[in-house]
Amino acid sequence: MPTTQQPNGLSSKPRCIAIVVAAGRGSRVGGDTPKQYLPIGGEAIVRRTLRAFCQHPMIDSVLPVINMDDADLFQNAAEGLDTLPPVSGGDTRQASVRAGLEHLAALSPAPDYVLIHDAARAFASETLISSVVEALGDHAGAIPALRVVDTLKREDGNGLISETVDRDALWRAQTPQGFRFPEILAAHRTFASESLTDDSALAERAGLVVSLVEGEESNVKITTPEDIAAANETLVQGEARTGQGFDVHRFCDGDAVTLCGVTIPHSHGLEGHSDADVAMHALTDALLGALAEGDIGTHFPPSDAQWRGTDSEVFLKFAADRVSGRNGRIINVDVTIICETPKIGTYRAAMTERLAEIMAITNDRVSVKATTTEKLGFTGRGEGIAAQAIATIRLP
Ligand code: MG
Repeated sequence: MPTTQQPNGLSSKPRCIAIVVAAGRGSRVGGDTPKQYLPIGGEAIVRRTLRAFCQHPMIDSVLPVINMDDADLFQNAAEGLDTLPPVSGGDTRQASVRAGLEHLAALSPAPDYVLIHDAARAFASETLISSVVEALGDHAGAIPALRVVDTLKREDGNGLISETVDRDALWRAQTPQGFRFPEILAAHRTFASESLTDDSALAERAGLVVSLVEGEESNVKITTPEDIAAANETLVQGEARTGQGFDVHRFCDGDAVTLCGVTIPHSHGLEGHSDADVAMHALTDALLGALAEGDIGTHFPPSDAQWRGTDSEVFLKFAADRVSGRNGRIINVDVTIICETPKIGTYRAAMTERLAEIMAITNDRVSVKATTTEKLGFTGRGEGIAAQAIATIRLP
């Protein structure tokens, strides 16, 4: 089945759902909190993991599988992320995956492809996810893996070497592991009573052809306190970057304006090629500026009729996805709307919430403010609305 991707990754076929397995309760890290809910770089491990899939253009939905005893932890960690409601896992990882697969089997339509991923791998890149999905065009299964580079020794049971193992054909398996959905569902059902270490092992047992795609050293499974420390280090390293954006739209005939995704009744509308959300445009340009990846016009040319009347959410989501696609994250954004009217105050909370939702970050990282210009200048004369924004991101 060919994978066709529209420009800017706005839609993709075939239908692919990612199961994120977060049902484990163990914490080798200490304390009572299961490790996937512990923070790295200021946010829960599982949040980072979910976001990578929620924002991926080839993934249609994300299904978390959790232990319902941790439902509150999960709700906090996943606040604002657009996942399916979590389903309850089983006693083992294999049983949890099976629960997820059975849930998807009951959906209409069921997915064509499924990716199965461990919540504790919070650094799978956009490219890695893409390469697994793309490989499913040719094979029933595909997993990312890394060649073994150390020389391997087999022990005789007494601490002595019995042989040196040929490492040439040996790989270390990672996740996300991708499969054509009906095949992996059948394999899980057939071998439900056996305990196998990963989903690929079930697929292999069922006789499915599983291909290897190049894994990533950075796609580590966070297991120990040392891993947590290393993950924090990774996220703190790299560099902070700041971008700014500025935009103006002129008033025109109309009865409402859209600002930060919120429609506000007004004596005029705003003129523009898209929905003229001047504030969201400024913010989008701030994010693209921090990435040094041009501006809205670079990616969505006004000369291109397909963007006429577009909901500006598309532009902002694109910019936010570019940040996570480069394995970065948004630290905070601050938007200032400049106009005499309409008055913004009562809409501010809704605006903050909407922007946070689109960028898949928490509300406390988003600021929306408004000011007048004391009736001076074009905004003071009520000719239009200006907006400026600043965004700080961290890139690895
Ligand atoms: Mg604009």
